[in-house]
Amino acid sequence: MNLSRRQFFKVLSGIAALALSPKDGLSYKGKFATLIDITRCDGCNDEPIPRCVKACREENKHRFPEPKKPIMPYWPRKTYEDWSDKRDKIDTLTPYNWLFIQKVEIEGKTLYIPRRCMHCDTPPCVKGCPFGALSKQPEGNTVIDHSICFGGAKCRDICPWHIPQRQAGVGIYLKLMPKFAGGGVMYKCDLCDARIKRGEEPACVIACRERLKDRTVYKFGHREEIYAEARRRAEKEGLYIYGDTQNGGTSTLYLSAISFEKIEAKLKELKARFQMPVKVRNLYKEEINPLGVAVLSAGAMGILTGVVGALAGKKQDDKEVL
Ligand code: SF4
Ligand code: SF4
Ligand code: SF4
Repeated sequence: MNLSRRQFFKVLSGIAALALSPKDGLSYKGKFATLIDITRCDGCNDEPIPRCVKACREENKHRFPEPKKPIMPYWPRKTYEDWSDKRDKIDTLTPYNWLFIQKVEIEGKTLYIPRRCMHCDTPPCVKGCPFGALSKQPEGNTVIDHSICFGGAKCRDICPWHIPQRQAGVGIYLKLMPKFAGGGVMYKCDLCDARIKRGEEPACVIACRERLKDRTVYKFGHREEIYAEARRRAEKEGLYIYGDTQNGGTSTLYLSAISFEKIEAKLKELKARFQMPVKVRNLYKEEINPLGVAVLSAGAMGILTGVVGALAGKKQDDKEVL
């Protein structure tokens, strides 16, 4: 077969494009980040369920909790958190829904904000878990080990966005301390840890791209490139960035044409279950280690925190959701 020079280069560039196609895998190792452009996310408002949310649920359903019922309240609390009868709920974070689209009306515009774990650079949830169930991965994401989580919810208490969600009636506490410390297992987005370790992009990212035929709305990539792109676009298009400085930096950046101060004010006014503070409080310092003293060993701290947590009955109430 004779190919002209032009045809030859066309075939070559096609092969190169295929080789670089995100479907074929991530071509680098190291830290990743996500860039979410809320100037262009439309919340998939013409579809029954946003594509990214649907993809996340599909991807992770094999890891969703299957609680043993009846669920026993653990002393001295009389309540427990059970989302298992609300598995279809997609408008908030639950142990069965690790990503949701937060809808906010500001200045006559509707914003759709995909919300999930920010994957902080210095995650207080990792530092504060008394059982060492959370870890920061080399790829920059934070992951909960469900097999050793007692569900004490300390990670949620000290997360600036209160992201992890608890399901009672599952987990190791049932075997070790069924009526005492803890009370389930915590769940959240892990940035599709298994996928990215296999060299694949997160399911939500692919789902968004397939719908919009645009890879810049919900983009996943090398952390430095994502940060550079966010800053370049912010400067060129006059956009605001969220996530680059909050909590000392995160692996999730948002771009918006409306300032995040205004978004924060609106979410406060709405008493939204998930807020977007511009100035993030150091809840690890405030709640766990106010004096900055050396912490106890993980085991000792675990028992102590479990006992104190159970006695105090401290939990985030399941408030009205947005
Ligand atoms: S799939 Fe994309 S456009 Fe749809 S809600 Fe998710 S991020 Fe927004
Ligand atoms: S957003 Fe919250 S749960 Fe996610 S890494 Fe940061 S502190 Fe942990
Ligand atoms: S990165 Fe994975 S786990 Fe996280 S929201 Fe997207 S699909 Fe869900």
